[in-house]
Amino acid sequence: MQLDHLNPPQRAAVKYLDGPCLVLAGAGSGKTRVITQKIAYLIQAAQMDARNIAAITFTNKAAREMQERVGGLLPPDRLRGLTVSTFHSLGMRILREEAKHLGYKPQFSILDSGDQWKIIGDILGTTDKQLVRSTISRISMLKSDRVSPDQALLGADSEGELHLAKLYRTYQDTLQAYQAVDFDDLIRLPVDLFEQNPDVTQKWQQRLRYLLVDEYQDTNTTQYSLLKFLTGTSGKFTAVGDDDQSIYAWRGANVENLALLKTDFPALEIIKLEQNYRSVARILRCANAVISNNPKLFEKTLWSDLGIGDPIQVIECKGEEHEAEMVAMSLLNHKFINNTKFADYAVLYRGNHQARIIETQLREHRIPYQMAGGQSFFDRAEIKDILAYLRLLANEDDDPAFIRAITTPKRGVGNVTLEKLGNYANTRQISLFQAAFEEGFIHQVQPAQYEPLQTFCDFINRLQPRATRESAGALLREMLAAIDYETWLYDSDDPKPAEAKWKNVLDFCGWVDKKGEEQGKSLIEISQTIALITMLEGRDEDEVDAVRMSTLHASKGLEYPHVFLIGCEEDILPHANSIESGMVEEERRLMYVGITRAQRSLTISYCGKRKRAGEWQISEPSRFLRELPAEDIRVTGRMAADKGNQVTRSEGRAMLAGMMAKLGEMK
Ligand code: ATP
Ligand code: MG
Repeated sequence: MQLDHLNPPQRAAVKYLDGPCLVLAGAGSGKTRVITQKIAYLIQAAQMDARNIAAITFTNKAAREMQERVGGLLPPDRLRGLTVSTFHSLGMRILREEAKHLGYKPQFSILDSGDQWKIIGDILGTTDKQLVRSTISRISMLKSDRVSPDQALLGADSEGELHLAKLYRTYQDTLQAYQAVDFDDLIRLPVDLFEQNPDVTQKWQQRLRYLLVDEYQDTNTTQYSLLKFLTGTSGKFTAVGDDDQSIYAWRGANVENLALLKTDFPALEIIKLEQNYRSVARILRCANAVISNNPKLFEKTLWSDLGIGDPIQVIECKGEEHEAEMVAMSLLNHKFINNTKFADYAVLYRGNHQARIIETQLREHRIPYQMAGGQSFFDRAEIKDILAYLRLLANEDDDPAFIRAITTPKRGVGNVTLEKLGNYANTRQISLFQAAFEEGFIHQVQPAQYEPLQTFCDFINRLQPRATRESAGALLREMLAAIDYETWLYDSDDPKPAEAKWKNVLDFCGWVDKKGEEQGKSLIEISQTIALITMLEGRDEDEVDAVRMSTLHASKGLEYPHVFLIGCEEDILPHANSIESGMVEEERRLMYVGITRAQRSLTISYCGKRKRAGEWQISEPSRFLRELPAEDIRVTGRMAADKGNQVTRSEGRAMLAGMMAKLGEMK
């Protein structure tokens, strides 16, 4: 097999099959390329069956891209059965197949964040957002660290921890009662399962004989355990990662897992890559300069021979609106001069709230854009309504789905009846759906109140067996007609939004048709897959010529010819919370990730002042800007005075002249 589009250390990493292998290298050095090439190598040169290979990435988008790249290397029949997935979807697959060992049915529900909020809020007896949010995140941390409710109870050494542990216990019991899991459980439960059932572990080890893990620096303890169980003592895996790009500590990622690999697998072969194939030298120098302010875990060097490139532009703007306008104008200007596509540009930011104002400006300038990591299509109310029905069809014990479905559309089941049903189910420790059929409950309500409830439950019961057998799209349409969802939308909203919502529902039906036909999936299987998309990111977007907008976190692993990195101010990047809690190093890694997404040009902007709570306040340029090498940047604004290289009037005129000349050429 030809491996001549790889450099010598990359080739070594691809060919190394004697034991566990770790590729440790900086951004853009071809780590992900090693993984895709190695998949092809394993199948073609090492004669492995694709079914025995699993590549694990962090996002659905990354998984899709990897699948595509591998698809370009081998014909489809050689790739049949290959697993390319996120940790979460692999976990879901294991869980679905082994659910019975854990007291779950294979059609368990996956809770969305809205349900999670509701459940935690109910347990806490509060609607205090801050409290609910912090409880959710603390429970998630425990799960990432592989702490079970029992262990949390035993290990609690303060009132606060004990309280949290009890909440965690109740939360977990509630999920079990609903036959539901949350996002973290998708990985935690398979790990528990493997620990308790060596036979099952062995079965999976034999099925997945070689693992490849991308972005390894962002695995948490639970994910690492999953990896260890799956590889067993054979240690047949290749992990690639970069400690400088570890940006998920706040979600429980543990960069020490990199060092731990060497301890747990003494035979670990560590391969380093040094050549960057992504960025021009100036961009790389800036990235290296910034990250050199962090303490080093591993020694790494990174160079590129893609030419020096233009200086990095650092622009001071008057305020957010001005910044957004500058981005839109500079982008159009740059596009015009360089004759590029919109899709060659990305606007990156620290937090989603920064996106709105940029969106407005882009729209105003008629610049098409595509958001990543924003509100997902599947998070829309109308789609969630439909999903509630699908979840209920899969799992009638899913109480949150039951409540949503029975009240949307309203079908004459009153709140009093629902409350009685809830109380009854609670005392009997059964689901709402089950309770609806019990004599004990039926006696408590008048026949007229019971009738609509019964009609609803019978309807679900009738559809249920069909949902695993029949064509997904057709059944979905039949269901929508039966519940008369369209009429309900128009009755409960103004015509315009109702029309838009109904169009979304039809889009959704089209999407289900496609999934059903292409992948032969049933309605129930499709609904489980959606839960994963909802949690991680937006819908599969079609490739269009549009500017990419993304949070820094969601941009990991990706590359764009021209990048705008906005809001580089103290309290934004680094984020105020991180400054407070001494997490500036992680923010610096985030800055490093941002800079290293750029291939040919990078523009960084910050606001000199910003409106907070309706008042203008002075903003300080990010400390990271001062870490950039003066000779590689061109600064306008306040910082320029410090750096002594403000754009002069003559430079400005030269730029204009360049543009005019280009215009002349084009005529
Ligand atoms: P990140 O740390 O950002 O995830 P990475 O190390 O995974 O980066 P890749 O995305 O694999 O890097 O590669 C960066 C770019 O360099 C890609 O466009 C890739 O196709 C290209 N590339 C990688 N290796 C080579 C090579 N040996 N020759 C030419 N181009 C390469
Ligand atoms: Mg990569």
